[in-house]
Amino acid sequence: MDQYQISRDRMVREISERGIKDPLVLAAMRKVPRHLFVEDALHAQAYADSPLPIACGQSISQPYIVALMSSLLQAAPGMCILEIGTGSGYQAAVLNAMGLKVYSVERLPQLYANTGKLLISLRYHGIHMKLADGTEGWPESGPYDRIIVTAGGPEVPAPLVDQLADPGLLIIPVGNRYRNQRLTIVRKDKGKLLHEEGDAVSFVDLVGAHGWK
Ligand code: SAH
Repeated sequence: MDQYQISRDRMVREISERGIKDPLVLAAMRKVPRHLFVEDALHAQAYADSPLPIACGQSISQPYIVALMSSLLQAAPGMCILEIGTGSGYQAAVLNAMGLKVYSVERLPQLYANTGKLLISLRYHGIHMKLADGTEGWPESGPYDRIIVTAGGPEVPAPLVDQLADPGLLIIPVGNRYRNQRLTIVRKDKGKLLHEEGDAVSFVDLVGAHGWK
């Protein structure tokens, strides 16, 4: 057992006390070594319930928000998921630990390169990465049972809705102001689309053709 397991168990207990009960999500977050996804100086803070800075002025979401989004996905092992905004790779690692096949797109070359190396060294072989504008999706590998966007944009990017399987579910923070969005869920079922707005959140900008310019 690594020295951070006690911190991880406490983090998961707090998440569960706040109402997230999905056993798949809780088990994955108990397993993934969150401290390894932030720089050394921040290891001790990795399991506190706050967002942390990563390279290039971006940030890794607080554990509760990772848990909330992961459970809203209503995912099952074996599903294919597209993530937009690889960042540190933590959310991707949690999704992979839930048994999902993960396709993750990052637009910043430095984050893409660093996180690619980290995920290989941690043996997350079920995570496929691409350096691109994720608001265009990753059409060659779709359709996806689930899509998760971990940056906030002004609208739901149309290419992502096109690449969503039927049935399928997409989750994205949408808002018209910097770091001020609502978690928006789009469900596709029998050819119909259903939009639902949820909790207020604070994500970094989704920058791209179907995001902020
Ligand atoms: N899921 C990440 C969160 C990182 S913050 C984690 O667990 O650490 C959001 C990330 O989205 C940043 O790395 C940012 O560069 C990236 N991003 C913003 N716009 C993007 C776009 N159009 N395509 C792909 N990635 C994007």
